[in-house]
Amino acid sequence: MQSKGLSEKTIRTILGDIRLRRSVYRCAVCGAMRCPGDELLNVVATGFSPGVRRLMAHAGSDLNGFKRAAQFRICQFFTHKI
Ligand SMILES: [Zn+2]
Repeated sequence: MQSKGLSEKTIRTILGDIRLRRSVYRCAVCGAMRCPGDELLNVVATGFSPGVRRLMAHAGSDLNGFKRAAQFRICQFFTHKI
């Protein structure tokens, strides 16, 4: 793996958005890119933290999930609406 330097990424967490700066690596054989920091934090190919993803899955787990989530003001925990 060859280092491609640092790259920034914004992650939405249950406490608000955070900005990550993590190392990016590129495979010299196949060209695949990896960010071990993303893998460690379980945020590969997503801008949502595992906690936010669990909340979204819970809120949308039935037909009226998002409507009910709005009624119970789950979104108040976010700095931005989802
Ligand atoms: Zn490779």
